[in-house]
Amino acid sequence: MLNVKLEINRLKKERNAVILAHNYQLEEVQEVADYVGDSFYLSKIAASTQQDVIVFCGVQFMAETAKILSPQKKVLLPEQDAGCPLADMITAEGLRELKSKHPGVPVVCYINSSAEVKAESDVCCTSANALKIVASLPDKKVIFVPDENLGDYVAKQLPDKELILWKGHCVTHAKVKPDNVKMVRQQYPQAEILIHPECDPSVVALADFVGSTSEIIQYAEQSETKTFVIGTEVGVICYLKAKLPHKEFFLLHSGLVCPNMKKTRLESVYEALLKNQYEIQVPEKFASQARQTLERMLEIK
Ligand code: SF4
Repeated sequence: MLNVKLEINRLKKERNAVILAHNYQLEEVQEVADYVGDSFYLSKIAASTQQDVIVFCGVQFMAETAKILSPQKKVLLPEQDAGCPLADMITAEGLRELKSKHPGVPVVCYINSSAEVKAESDVCCTSANALKIVASLPDKKVIFVPDENLGDYVAKQLPDKELILWKGHCVTHAKVKPDNVKMVRQQYPQAEILIHPECDPSVVALADFVGSTSEIIQYAEQSETKTFVIGTEVGVICYLKAKLPHKEFFLLHSGLVCPNMKKTRLESVYEALLKNQYEIQVPEKFASQARQTLERMLEIK
């Protein structure tokens, strides 16, 4: 019988490939990856990797971002239809229309967006650096797309700024309601509740800590607390349980499972390497502009 893990490692060497996996990927996929992390971490790896092939275990916009940052590499997305409903909630045309209503106002786009939307924006951000990116702009008014909840969180932290928000949201994080937080408080009174800013502001307001995937992981590592309730995608819990076996983790809502992130299986990674599929292409007319938007983000320390 074929040992898929061994075959993946053999093909990885043969193709001179690197495997990147987002924290929301299945545990079996995270296990074969060379790098596991959030969008910001993986975009930095994609920009600096020496290998010829990048197998991106995540969703479409992530593989596209890797291709934009490393145009000379072959970038493969193992599951062709792994998309992101949040990224699909805005089009370049819609953004151009919004910009025409606010001439001269800079645009910050969340990395969860298409190459075309990035090309229409001034600087990109992730949930790990959104505050820093918006704060670094000299302008008072800033257009922030497409995640309204993340934008609302940034606006509350930076009261001197005036954010113009797009009405997009992550359908997975949107499932969490304030009652879910109230319930787990009663159930686990000793626990700290860590929540991603893609959740609704009414949920974020009840958190003990608000942060991106990497910030939630870091917080759980450094806190003295032993029990945590995690308000982001379930993949983060798998990662935390493996990394911190002496601590306890519970999911804030059973619906915190991104179906697109779960499409990639071990077999998909194997097939991707074997058949060189599915190769990501970004038309140069968007790629060069989108690259500048991403590079501005990477330059802001
Ligand atoms: Fe998109 Fe939400 Fe899934 Fe992330 S968790 S890929 S934002 S739908």
